[in-house]
Amino acid sequence: MQQAITFDLWETLIADSRALDKKRAVYRVKRAHRILHRAGFDVSRKELELAHREVWESCWEKWERARDISFADQVNLFLNLARPGLVKALQPAVIREIGEHYAKAVLRYPPRMIKGADLVLRELRKEGYTLGLICNTGRTPGFVLRKLLTRYRLLKYFDVALFSDETIVRKPDPKIFRLALKALNCPPSRALHVGDDLKNDVRGAMKAGMQAVWIEQTGQKAPAGIKRIKSVAGLPCLRAIALRRAQARHLK
Ligand SMILES: [Mg+2]
Repeated sequence: MQQAITFDLWETLIADSRALDKKRAVYRVKRAHRILHRAGFDVSRKELELAHREVWESCWEKWERARDISFADQVNLFLNLARPGLVKALQPAVIREIGEHYAKAVLRYPPRMIKGADLVLRELRKEGYTLGLICNTGRTPGFVLRKLLTRYRLLKYFDVALFSDETIVRKPDPKIFRLALKALNCPPSRALHVGDDLKNDVRGAMKAGMQAVWIEQTGQKAPAGIKRIKSVAGLPCLRAIALRRAQARHLK
């Protein structure tokens, strides 16, 4: 039986959509445009839209190598891509204000909590598991995702919550799993990770010596032998099966 269970965030505990992502992009660009204009910088919406897209592409190169940049660096990148040298020309308070809106777009257009996620976490805590969160961030930094998780009453269940804009290392690098397990004081052999991404969650956790459970994605095939569930809400069933097997062995 595992002692610790770690969870992925996006598409495991919360579900996003393209429509929401688009709304957040429009919000970030609009706000940045307004703040820059007020500060006397004539950067067009088009330039900011392009920079917003390019940030993703630039970060992606790092993400492919399981590395990340801090949120402050992402905001600077956004501004300098919109207009080279912009960060140097701006007052720190202006950059801070743009960063705040960039980060908080997710609270304005929040992803929904996956049905039953709160009940599962509560149940697992009651059973005595220690729980961790290991999240690869995109545009939204950990300090705002913590607020979102507090809003959904999920954060309180985690003994550790790691976000890649803070750790700078990302899944599937085993280092981030080891960081979480160290904080949970649990050896990998007694830990399980749950997530939807085969490369980042399943293979990453296994490389760190943990067990993994994959949240099935339509159109994707998991390697043979990988435990799978349809949703995080199905996790107790899996545990019940494992426990029943253990009891059967004990009765023999
Ligand atoms: Mg995910």
